[in-house]
Amino acid sequence: MKKVYSSDSFFLIGHLRELLEHHHITCIAKNEFLLGGAGELPPTECWPELWITEDFQYEKARELVEGFLASSAEAGSEWRCPACGEGIEGQFSACWRCGAERPLDSWS
Ligand SMILES: [Zn+2]
Repeated sequence: MKKVYSSDSFFLIGHLRELLEHHHITCIAKNEFLLGGAGELPPTECWPELWITEDFQYEKARELVEGFLASSAEAGSEWRCPACGEGIEGQFSACWRCGAERPLDSWS
């Protein structure tokens, strides 16, 4: 087991998990449901984390994650919510209006 990435964004972790699974890398999201019950833990301790189960896939997983993050940082353009049709600014990973997740294909 190796941790590949952590983020305060559930949506981002979810997207990355889909991306890795698409490339046949088995991964697990931790802390997915812990936010809000954080208590005295430092905030970063309870961020959602993405772990892979097979250590030998780590290099490949990091490559995919970094590639994805680089492309999404460049893609600061507006996207349209598939659920309610609202136009959302590029830095948001979910619709501010209805909470729908940003479609994966709008990142690239
Ligand atoms: Zn929406």
